Formats: sequence, C-alpha cells, structure tokens
Amino acid sequence: MTLSYQHLPQTWDVLVAGGGTAGAIAAIAAARAGARVLVVEALGSLGGTGTNAWVTPLMRNVSGGENLNRGLTDELKARMLARGDGAVDPGGNDNWFNPEGMKFVLERMLLEAGGEVLYHTHIVQPLLADGEHVDGQQLMVDGESAQSHSINHQPSTITSLVVHNKGGLQALNAAVFIDATGDADLATRAGVPFHAGDEDGIHQAMSLRFTLAGVDTARLCAFLNGNGQGQTGENFLHFWMVWGKNSTLEPLFRQAVSEGVLLERDGDYFQGFSIPGRPGEISFNCPRIRAELHDGTDPWQLSAAQVDGREAIDRLTAFCHAYLPGCETAFIGVVAPMVGVRESRRIVGEYTLTLADILDCARFPDSICRNHYPVDIHSVRGGAKLLHERDGTAPYFAKDAYHEIPYRAIVPVGIANLLVPGRAASSSFEAQSAIRVQQNCHSMGEAAGTAAAWAARDHGGRVRDIDMDALQTELRRLGGNI
Ligand SMILES: Cc1cc2nc3c(=O)[nH]c(=O)nc-3n(C[C@H](O)[C@H](O)[C@H](O)COP(=O)(O)OP(=O)(O)OC[C@H]3O[C@@H](n4cnc5c(N)ncnc54)[C@H](O)[C@@H]3O)c2cc1C
Repeated sequence: MTLSYQHLPQTWDVLVAGGGTAGAIAAIAAARAGARVLVVEALGSLGGTGTNAWVTPLMRNVSGGENLNRGLTDELKARMLARGDGAVDPGGNDNWFNPEGMKFVLERMLLEAGGEVLYHTHIVQPLLADGEHVDGQQLMVDGESAQSHSINHQPSTITSLVVHNKGGLQALNAAVFIDATGDADLATRAGVPFHAGDEDGIHQAMSLRFTLAGVDTARLCAFLNGNGQGQTGENFLHFWMVWGKNSTLEPLFRQAVSEGVLLERDGDYFQGFSIPGRPGEISFNCPRIRAELHDGTDPWQLSAAQVDGREAIDRLTAFCHAYLPGCETAFIGVVAPMVGVRESRRIVGEYTLTLADILDCARFPDSICRNHYPVDIHSVRGGAKLLHERDGTAPYFAKDAYHEIPYRAIVPVGIANLLVPGRAASSSFEAQSAIRVQQNCHSMGEAAGTAAAWAARDHGGRVRDIDMDALQTELRRLGGNI
C-alpha cells in the first residue's frame, strides 16, 4: 500500500516530537538559544504526563538539602507559584502544582521564546537523508516511492518527519530532531534499537489518574489525623494505602472489599494529594491498571487501560463517598486525558545508565543532570520485588549522595541529528525507574534543547559534535546544577 504526503517547504532548526515534560522544556531551551523551533504534539496542550496524565506533584530530588534540578525547573516553579498554580508546603517542598495551570505557563514560555507548536498532530515516520526509511511501509513523495532502510555503521541523518493531523499527512523539515514522545516513537521508527520492560519484557504498572472535587477538606483532614495519617493542614493533604505496608487506612479498604465496594486490586496502590489553586479537590495517584495491560506502546492495551481505569475510578469514588468523611458529596473533577505510562521503550544510546551507576553515584565528564531519586519500580507483579542486594548500604543512600546522567544517554546510536531526553533515555529497567521523575526530565530536556540549537547552528545538525565543556558552562549559567 502506498500513502502520499505533502512536503512543506519551510525548515525548522529544531523539531521537538512530543511537547511533554521533557519536550516542552527542550523546546523552550532551544528557542531561547536562538533556534527556530516547532513542537509537534498529539494532544492540545503542553506538559505531557505531568499535565495530561495529571501527575502532580513533581517528585522531590534532593541531595544534602539542595534541590538537584534547577535552571528552567526553577523558573517554571516560580511562575506557577506567582499565579497560584504552585505552592510550597510547611516542610519547604516547592514541588506542588496544578496541572491545568502548568499548561498555560509552559505554552507562554514557549511562545515568548519564539517557539511554535502544532497541536493535535501525531508523528508517523521520520525520513532519512538518503530517502530511505525503516520498516517497509511505503511512503510516497509526489508519487515517488521511498525505499526501506536499515541502520548502517555511519550515523544516518533524519531530514524530515511525516506527521498526521487534520491536514492529512505532511512532512516537516528540520536540522535536528528531539524525540520527547516518552515512548521513543520517532527514534524507534528511525531504526534506533531499544529495550522495553524488565528482563521478561514486563513493564511498570500504568495508572489513570483522576480528581475528586467538592471535598470538605477540613473534615477529611480531621479524619485523616484521627486515623494516624498525620497531616500538616487541610491545604496539603497527602494520604495513602498499599496492602501490607502498614497504612492506617488498610482496615477501611478491607471492609470495602468485603462489602463489595472495591476489588482487591484497588488496594494495590492508593494515594491522594491536595492541588494548589484548586481548593476542595484531591488528586489521586491511582487507580493502577490491571496487570495484563502493561504495555503503553500497544494501542489496544492503552485503549483497554482507559476503560479499565475508568471503571476503577467509579469504584474508588464510591469508596470515598462511603468511607472517607468529607467526601460524601464529592464528584469527579478530572479523569486524566492520558493514561499514565511509567515506562515503555528505552533507546539504546551511546551510554546506557545502569543500576550500578546509581548505587555507586557514578560521575560522567558529559553530565547533564544530577539525580538522587531512588529506584522506584511500580511492579504489576504485586508485592515487593528484590531490586538489588545493596538496599540501604550502597553509597547512594547517603543524604548528600547523587549520581549523574551523561549526555550520551540521550544520544541514540545510529542517528546523527537526534536526541531522546525523558523517560525513554538510554537506561536499564531499574535505572529508568529512578531517573524518570519530572524534574530530571526537565533537566534532560533543557540540555537537549540547548545542544540541539547549537548543533543546528554550528554543526550541521550533528549532536555528537557539541563542545561538552561549553554546554555544561552554559547550563550552569542558566542556573543548572551540573
Ligand atoms: C502514574 C504516574 C505517576 C507518576 N508520579 C510521579 C510523581 O509523583 N512525580 C514525578 O515527578 N514524576 C512522576 N511520574 C513520572 C513522570 O511523570 C514521567 O516519567 C515524566 O513526566 C515523563 O516525561 P517525558 O517527557 O519522558 O514524557 P511525557 O511527559 O509523557 O511527554 C510525552 C509527550 O509526547 C506526546 N506524544 C507521545 N507520542 C506522540 C506521538 N506519536 N506523536 C505526537 N506526540 C506524541 C504526548 O502527548 C506527551 O505530551 C509518574 C508517572 C506516572 C505514569
């Protein structure tokens, strides 16, 4: 079968596929570095998992009392705080945010920097310099059929990206591409090899997040305090229940299961948070999607996950109505537009970050980010899985420890002008579970955007030719903690 597409005449310096957590920041950084930037985004707003999967708050990433992710992350937080969509809790945690507010802030930051965005557009297929492509699909340019491609030893160059939207199929030209789809959609379609899941190909659990609005938070806070879920105040509620982890809410969950309100698996992971700027509303980091549906790159599983999650949200809402004082008349505020995917494909890059790198606090000459968030696998297998035998004893467990993420982990093998920041960066299953949190995705994105702008301006798009000392100096100048 052949498909034809329209090849647009303009060329961007940097094309960012996926305007999510890493991608939006990458695009802002690239535009501020002087590049002509286009973001291609499947949904109608920026922020990705953070905003459209409603993943709030930003996970803390602290070493020696200092937040490790600075630069654009600091600016994003400050702008959120200024408009009431961010907050600092009594313990000094400044990572609380309202996902709907973040969509506005990211979009403004991009447009102010001169970046462009094309929403409601899916990537289809990158085209390589020699007119070849990877997977045997036949695409046609004005009636000329393209050939299939296999990766050679010399890195190939992507010249354009075919996308699909209401205009049909269109090819967009750029000097450098950033794949920030989270799933490495662009990279893998260009032939970049990848890993997916654990040693058995099993992925971390997906979740469909939601909110309950109309909550009487004063009553809920009083109940939670009386129940041993110590709260700092009604504006910063945080409560949880996981079977077998000594949550004081476990007896209530047990009762709800026995009374047919919840299913057993509804207690595999339950967590609620307050949201700045949205009084009376609680954001839930659940439900977990049932175990068989774990592959976020399988469209059928993803669709079934949406259905499965919605059913579970109905059960959890009924539970909150009946068992949590203050929630009796609460109603569903938001069901996240995106199913939350913690881990899917991970590219093979010029360096693959490992569990040992994390535990031994590895340092790299091309460091672009520091991380102290722990290995955190939400396993669909249930129960605790032994991750490593150095739990609690490795150097990483010191309060002032951190490891670094090298630039090479976002440089995919085989392609000259592509970077892959975010949760699809080159890492083992265990290492990915530590580096995937949002602030690290920001830092990887900021480095990728700056490097991409320079590669387009000075190096014919070649991302390996960047002067690493100069990049690190620039990231520091921009406030980065490198
Ligand atoms: C349920 C859950 C809970 C989590 N909890 C926390 C937490 O509390 N704190 C924290 O800091 N982190 C948390 N994380 C991790 C963190 O949110 C993610 O790892 C991170 O946001 C991923 O960022 P990313 O840029 O790699 O991908 P994303 O933010 O997902 O961005 C990908 C973007 O690409 C777009 N896209 C995808 N495919 C295409 C395509 N083919 N064409 C066009 N556009 C496309 C998407 O629409 C999206 O906008 C959680 C994750 C999940 C799923």
